[in-house]
Amino acid sequence: MKNAVVTGGASGIGAAVAERLRSQGYHVATIDLKPADDGPLAQAADVTDRAQVDAALAGIRESLGPITVLVNAAGVDGFQRFTKIDFAEWSRVIDVNLNGVYHCIQAVLPDMLDAEWGRIVNISSSSAHSGQPFMTHYVAAKSAVNGLTKALALELGPKGITVNAVPPGFVDTPMLRNAEGRKRLGGTVEEHIQRTPVRRVGRPEDIAAACAFLISEDAGYITGQILGVNGGRNT
Ligand code: NAD
Repeated sequence: MKNAVVTGGASGIGAAVAERLRSQGYHVATIDLKPADDGPLAQAADVTDRAQVDAALAGIRESLGPITVLVNAAGVDGFQRFTKIDFAEWSRVIDVNLNGVYHCIQAVLPDMLDAEWGRIVNISSSSAHSGQPFMTHYVAAKSAVNGLTKALALELGPKGITVNAVPPGFVDTPMLRNAEGRKRLGGTVEEHIQRTPVRRVGRPEDIAAACAFLISEDAGYITGQILGVNGGRNT
């Protein structure tokens, strides 16, 4: 049975991915700043800190063995006029959303290389397609994740490892509702539904379904792809 790690697995999209993979029989561990519970499969770590990531993975390997599936869902948003983003805030958003992906992939990869099989799915953002005002740091980081995905797919394809990205658009999670509460969305979530071609807000399960497919054996010929799950927004 395959062992999977989901970062950001304590909330929203990451939690739904973890749940979906568990329901399909994967052994799933999560890494999050605030873990969902205190068991060895819910590790507390900051993905920007390599020592913490390595320690979390050591704990997970002790319980499960080698890890051959990684979903990078940990992320933070940010809303600020470009001229007002100081370098500390710029760096923090890049650090979590981009450097966290670098750390987690590099730390898990040896297991996948040994197994000559692996699946990596990076949760980027539909804002990388459309752009988004007041989110230059976030959009820059998420665009870089899409770029990393494409480049790494070419490098790891010969090793039996696929690398894909799922950029969500407008998914009902604590992150989205928090942004709504801070009036960062330019309207309520419900108002945005009218601007969404499929006329509903995305559910974390919609993203989990796409991840589950990309992780499956059926998706073995799919790599380096950016699979938008956005109800037709920002495609
Ligand atoms: P969320 O806030 O519900 O969940 C994010 C999780 O990541 C949280 O549990 C948080 O504790 C964790 N996290 C944050 N920083 C971390 C760090 N440094 N180390 C470890 N864990 C950390 O948000 P969500 O909406 O589920 O977002 C999941 C991913 O989807 C994010 O990468 C986000 O950018 C992306 N995304 C979401 C939407 C949306 O509409 N919700 C749209 C586009 C992209």
